[in-house]
This record gives sequence, C-alpha cells and structure tokens, in this order.
Amino acid sequence: MSGRFAPSPTAALHLGNLRTAVLAWLFARSTGRGFRLRIEDLDTRRVRAAGEVAAQQVRDLATLGLDFDGEVVWQSARLDAYAAAVAQLDTYECYCTRKEIADAPSAPHADGYRPYTGVCLRLTAAQRAVLASTRRPALRVRADGERFSVTDSLAGEFTGVVDDFVLVRNDGVPAYNLAVVVDDLAMGVDQVVRGDDLLSSSPRQAWLATRLGGVPPTYAHVPLALNRDGVRLAKRDGAVTLADLAALGMDADRILALLARSLGLAATGETVQLPQLLARFDPLRLPREPWVVDPTDYADADVNRMSIT
Ligand code: GLU
Repeated sequence: MSGRFAPSPTAALHLGNLRTAVLAWLFARSTGRGFRLRIEDLDTRRVRAAGEVAAQQVRDLATLGLDFDGEVVWQSARLDAYAAAVAQLDTYECYCTRKEIADAPSAPHADGYRPYTGVCLRLTAAQRAVLASTRRPALRVRADGERFSVTDSLAGEFTGVVDDFVLVRNDGVPAYNLAVVVDDLAMGVDQVVRGDDLLSSSPRQAWLATRLGGVPPTYAHVPLALNRDGVRLAKRDGAVTLADLAALGMDADRILALLARSLGLAATGETVQLPQLLARFDPLRLPREPWVVDPTDYADADVNRMSIT
C-alpha cells in the first residue's frame, strides 16, 4: 500500500508544494508504505508546455532527495480508465452553465463550493432536447445528497454532503474528483496527504471510491503555505521555487533545512537529511497553523551567512 504526491503541472513547485511533498513522503515512509508520483495533467489548457513543467517538477522532487516507487503515472494517459469507471456509475447529463449554478438558490459551503441541486435530473424530455441543441452536457454522478465521513489525521472525523458532482466536464475532460479516485484505487494508494484546501473534497472522493468498489484511503490534510498577506503562496511571491532559491545560492540541503524548520523538525542553522527527518517525524506534533513564507527572511539570512564566511 502506498502514499502519493500528485502535482498539477501548472507552474514550478514552490516551497508550499515542496513542503507538502516532503510531508507526504514522511507519512508514507514512516508507516512502511510505498510512495507514488502522479502528474495531474488533465487540465492543461491553461499551460503551454505542461510536459516540460512536469519534468521539472519531477527533477525538483529528486533534488530534495524524495524517492518514489513504480512508474510515474500521467493522468493524460489514463482516459480509458476514467471512461471505464464512469460506465460503472449512475450518471446523468447536465446542461447547466457555471452562471446558472452560481445563481441557483442553494447555500454555498464555507469554501465557496455550491452543491448541485439536481436541476438537470428533473428536466422534461422536451426541455432536454432544447438544451441539447445548443449546449454540450457535463456528466454528473447521482449521489442523492448522501452524507459521508472521512477520517483525517489532523482534522479528525470530517463529514460532508455528497452532491451530484461532475465526473466529466462539458469539454469532455474527466473531472478532478473522478480522476483522483480512479487513480488512487488503481495505484494502491491508501494514504492521501495533501493541502488542507482539499479537505472539503474528501467526502465526495471517499464516497466515490466506495461506489467504485474500493476502500477510501486515510487522509492527512496539511496546512498550506501562505505569503505575508495571508494569501496562499504563489510563484509571484518572490524567491519560492528551487530555481529561484538556487539563484540565491541556496542548495538542496539548505532548502530541506528550511522546510524541516517550518515543520518543527530541525533547529535554526541545523542541516538535516531526510533519514533524520524520518526518525524525528511524529504526525501528532505537526504544526496546525499555515506556514507563513517571507522570502526576505531566508534571502537575508543567506546574504548574512555569505558575508560572515
Ligand atoms: N493535483 C492537485 C494539486 O496539485 C492535488 C490533488 C490531490 O492531491 O488529490 O493541488
């Protein structure tokens, strides 16, 4: 059984992504699990050169010393598996636009997600025919508003209502919630460690795993990295990718030390290697607060260090 890291090749990995990758590796290896890598490259319309971005992500993970088992899985090569899963499920076509869903009288969840209220399930044949003449449908799964709970090592038991979520988008691309579940089952992933922005998706995904005849994984949704303004860290926040940091003279050891410090696994100025982190790792003692990243901290530290040596 395995854990995994599953980046989307939309941009170079930044410190927040790398920290989640290190955590996923620590969770997996400290429990004797394998560790798999999956490139979530289904939604590449926005990224030219997704292949190059992904290849760089793979190199960056190796630079930090993270090792993976088995072949790297590329979602773009697994369309048949997603289609086969869809064929096993109770689904229906949905013609609603984003705007119609946003305007529907349903209360959004805390994270802004608006549960789908099943409008297209209740269409008459005539209404459906009119819509089908001008719009391409998405495919939704019938879940009938079931409640589903998952166990998360940080959040505890987490329950969510499973709405009729999209399995295949109206441009024909398999939806994230479908692909993740199909792949985790196929790859023997029974431990999912990822950013806590995805906690609210986990009841839907766990429910879908059971619908596909599988067992939901255990979860650990870990705090995200934020910038100084409290906004989720992004590439534009300064020197936050391995390439940026290398340009400042920070090698992989220093970056690993920075990540380890942020996790309470290393002292200031201490150099650490992954095996030491593994020996020190205790999921119960992980920081529960987001990690606030301020590039001027380590950039200055770097300049200071250079001027003393
Ligand atoms: N590809 C997603 C991301 O980069 C992660 C999906 C997951 O871990 O389930 O945010």
